[in-house]
Amino acid sequence: MIHLEAVDTLVIGSGPGGYAAALRSAQLGMKTAVVERGQIGGVCTHVGCIPSKALIAESHRFQMYSKRSSDRGIASFEEAQSFKQAVVNKQAGGVQFLLKTAGVTFLQGEASFLDEHTVVIKGEGTEQRISFKNVILATGSRPIELEALPYGGRILSSTEALSLSGLPASLVVIGGGYIGVELGQMYAKFGTKVTILEGGRSVLPGFEADLAAPVVRQLNNDGVTIITDAKAVKAEQDTDGLTLHYMKGSEQQLIRAEYALVTVGRRPNTDGKLGLERIGLQAGDRGLMETDEQCRTKVPHVYAIGDIRTGPALAHKASYEAKVAAEAIAGQPSIIDYKAIPLVVFSEPELASVGLTETESRERGYSVITGKSSFGINGRALALKETDGFVKIVADQTSGMIRGAQIVGVEASTLISELALAIEMGATVEDLAMTIHPHPALGEVVMEAAEHAVRKMIMGK
Ligand code: FAD
Repeated sequence: MIHLEAVDTLVIGSGPGGYAAALRSAQLGMKTAVVERGQIGGVCTHVGCIPSKALIAESHRFQMYSKRSSDRGIASFEEAQSFKQAVVNKQAGGVQFLLKTAGVTFLQGEASFLDEHTVVIKGEGTEQRISFKNVILATGSRPIELEALPYGGRILSSTEALSLSGLPASLVVIGGGYIGVELGQMYAKFGTKVTILEGGRSVLPGFEADLAAPVVRQLNNDGVTIITDAKAVKAEQDTDGLTLHYMKGSEQQLIRAEYALVTVGRRPNTDGKLGLERIGLQAGDRGLMETDEQCRTKVPHVYAIGDIRTGPALAHKASYEAKVAAEAIAGQPSIIDYKAIPLVVFSEPELASVGLTETESRERGYSVITGKSSFGINGRALALKETDGFVKIVADQTSGMIRGAQIVGVEASTLISELALAIEMGATVEDLAMTIHPHPALGEVVMEAAEHAVRKMIMGK
């Protein structure tokens, strides 16, 4: 067993939470090491955000070109896979470079607690021991497995679905949340016959119906079949594919497909060999860690961030918490303030939301007005032939302060940042309406939605 030099901060996991925490800790002058049992960059870089967005972008290009050339060959999907891998490798290399230049020690292997200030790191044929003053847990999450449909063979999690070497002829996606919709639409654009089975009444259940509607329209245009109120009960695998049995009401129905992709949520990695029990910690509800507003667990030198902490499982939430935890260790007064966490679905059209929706605001007893503007009347959107969708802003009826915003349409993922900043800064709809936006640009739709809200405020509606 090798005994490594002790560090001020040990970070377990190198996803967007872990590597951001290690970087911030090192920038603040603390001796820092990060341990990773898999690949540097975590889920986001290797089997999450980055590969999915690379394949989604390729599927758009494929669909666009094949509409012209009617060439929908399998070769393009294979090329897309190598493009994806190149993007992933570049991103992972970037993370490695940043950690190295910041002076963070990278340790390969699986960390298990020995006691409150020591972990053992088991790698391939190696065993190292390291002591630390503080530890940040950033161990992330893994796909939830359905008992009736265990992963293996033709039943895929998102991880395998991102790495198929050939294009499947057909795919049934179980779960119509954002990952199911993104990956289902991506495959449909490449030419796979996709069916999405959703247990609830509509896909993208977290979004208001008017927002999800343009995405559902486009899914239909892409040839995706959506079956709602449907519960998968079992699958029989054979050499060509599988037969999936599902309940629609009280009736049992069947679908044949080459593969099934199960995307029904993720489970925090707080169990297994990590050994939290050896430091007096226990994960709570659904495996999540409870912390204070500085991400500190009940053991004061142990912090938890990212997918293992309450809140949406998103990369930018993980890296935001990472900074708070590292700064807390350095004695700074940083705290978590979740006023504005943007949420994006990289579907076509894109969907994005930040802050409160109109319904959530009314449920909390706020008097709100909304302002809406459509991409259909925006010159840039017309030029791009991307006119489906709208921007909706929710603001306090009296002060005009922006409480939330939702966008469905082209570049929603980019446009939402202005609204996140507006919420962070306590801006009003008047501030947004009076800000000069470039023309002709998609940002004008945001400004016009704010102008609409201002007009409603003046008219007292
Ligand atoms: P992770 O990225 O999960 O990293 C945790 C790391 O810890 C892993 O590499 C793991 O190997 C390591 N680890 C665990 N236990 C140990 C141990 N004991 N010792 C050593 N190492 C350990 N989010 C977005 O914001 N935008 C998106 O577009 C988006 N798309 C996604 C698409 C898909 C298909 C998936 C699956 C997820 C997507 N997400 C997206 C979610 C995002 O990937 C996660 O929220 C994010 O990766 C969480 O970061 P994290 O740092 O908490 O953990």
